[in-house]
Amino acid sequence: MANLQNGYSNKKQLDIVVVGAGLVGSLEALYLAKRGHRVRLYEFREDIRKTPTARGRSINLALSVRGRRALKDVGLETHMIKEHGIPMTGRRIHRTDGSTYVIPYDANTKQCIYSVGRNYLNSLLLEESEKYDNVERYFNHKLIESNLKKGSLTFQKTDTNEQVHVTADLIIGADGAFSAVRKAMMKRPFFDFSQKYIEHGYLELCIPADENGSKQMNDKTQPAKRIPKCILKSRSVVSENGFGCL
Ligand SMILES: Cc1cc2nc3c(=O)[nH]c(=O)nc-3n(C[C@H](O)[C@H](O)[C@H](O)COP(=O)(O)OP(=O)(O)OC[C@H]3O[C@@H](n4cnc5c(N)ncnc54)[C@H](O)[C@@H]3O)c2cc1C
Repeated sequence: MANLQNGYSNKKQLDIVVVGAGLVGSLEALYLAKRGHRVRLYEFREDIRKTPTARGRSINLALSVRGRRALKDVGLETHMIKEHGIPMTGRRIHRTDGSTYVIPYDANTKQCIYSVGRNYLNSLLLEESEKYDNVERYFNHKLIESNLKKGSLTFQKTDTNEQVHVTADLIIGADGAFSAVRKAMMKRPFFDFSQKYIEHGYLELCIPADENGSKQMNDKTQPAKRIPKCILKSRSVVSENGFGCL
């Protein structure tokens, strides 16, 4: 078992199930493993490390000081920033008339946020968990039923349809926006929940380098030539080298 933290030896080691091996579940598994608990990580989808193509939502994430701190404590901050982070110093606004301007994130001390690949970060977290004998990973397992009072969960294996029943001392729901764990919690007395949708859409465009390997969008080019007007009008978000764009 790698790196057991001091100070937890006198505490009971728990048998913990984390539902969802996205960014939160994978990171949480590392924190719990460092404390010496047995962690079983159940993920609906296949192992992201074996599926290099982007899944679902935003391909890149903006990593700020909060995310860096979380990665630091599991020893991954430096690698993520130095090897894979693209510094984003500001946000470029594209007007519908084709003109642009930049809003710097930190004009005074020049701090920046970093663009990092979502799949890469998720894979890195899962890979790190392999260093801990007390972490088990189960992919293609979809949570379909929960009895939170008894601490029991039922997963369906998506490849065989077989049902798997597990019990745990502690269940952590890290299964995203449409969390099945949260749905089970909502049936419990006094559980409060609210969900609010923002009025804007979100669209990420990938603008590849031109035939010479140069950026297709910069200060000198007319972005309207590159981005269809309808997208500009709908407050799109575009990733460009070094800038998040609105
Ligand atoms: C368009 C968009 C852009 C974003 N950009 C940023 C950004 O730039 N920077 C930033 O910090 N954050 C960003 N976020 C927010 C960030 O994506 C979330 O905060 C983060 O993904 C939450 O991680 P999570 O692990 O809780 O959920 P998820 O990443 O959604 O992971 C949940 C996991 O649970 C699994 N799962 C779901 N249901 C089940 C089930 N029944 N059984 C088993 N497993 C299940 C899913 O397959 C998934 O792997 C963005 C979000 C969106 C939608």
